[in-house]
Amino acid sequence: MSFVTRFAPSPTGYLHLGHAFSALTAFDAAQTAGGRFVLRIEDIDQGRSRPEFEAVIFEDLAWLGISWEEPVRRQSEHMADYEGALQSLIERQLVYRCFRTRKEIAEAIASAPHGEAEEAFRGEAIPPDEEAAKLKAGEAFAWRLSLKKARAALGPAYFALMFEDETGPVRAEPGRHGDVVLARKDFGTSYHLASVWDDALHGVTHVIRGEDLREAAHLHVLLQKLLELPQPAYRHHRLILGEDGKRLAKRDQAATLKTLREGGKTPADVRGMIGL
Ligand code: GLU
Repeated sequence: MSFVTRFAPSPTGYLHLGHAFSALTAFDAAQTAGGRFVLRIEDIDQGRSRPEFEAVIFEDLAWLGISWEEPVRRQSEHMADYEGALQSLIERQLVYRCFRTRKEIAEAIASAPHGEAEEAFRGEAIPPDEEAAKLKAGEAFAWRLSLKKARAALGPAYFALMFEDETGPVRAEPGRHGDVVLARKDFGTSYHLASVWDDALHGVTHVIRGEDLREAAHLHVLLQKLLELPQPAYRHHRLILGEDGKRLAKRDQAATLKTLREGGKTPADVRGMIGL
């Protein structure tokens, strides 16, 4: 059986021990399976991504003993791919324009009665004349996936959506996410769309990533179905916690691989610190 996995960091800060755990878990799994390991730079958010962070990602990973296939795919160089995927959803009317601001959405959620919060994420396309007026006025909009339309398009297949993770077969519940944004106002795609697209492009058979992204699988399998992409298996791993018991964030400088490396730690020390 072929085995392809990946590590897909965003160059918006330095990698920390949590990233090391993810990257090494995926790399080790590929080695053990005699499979492939792909590195992908998820830099669609050009406002937050920095070339210097990307350069340090390469240094950190090589230092850890990880090797990857070249060329590395940098998502910002392939925006047309994600636009194409979005376009196919637009043509099938599975997405709608959402002009609401973050503030308006937050207000709608806050004012929703208990239990209806998720519903508040769901909108509908606004009447065509209103939409035309907003477009004419140059108002920015995001594209949201319409769960209602997705359900109608897939019929019983929507409810039969399953995926496999480390716990076994899981029934997918994309409704947990509401109508998610697939193309953001500011950069025309989203993590979900670009990541699902690229996993398929790379022939990823096993998505290995942290538990914090467990919920995302429920949506990703729906996108795979709608875009007719193959479905990988999922493996979610534990998160590495900081001394305060909270999961590490990019702002935790003490745990960055760069700091550890420059402070004289070895890759074996890092493995030891994260229990690998
Ligand atoms: N770019 C995402 C991150 O850094 C990766 C998510 C994924 O592995 O799908 O969190």
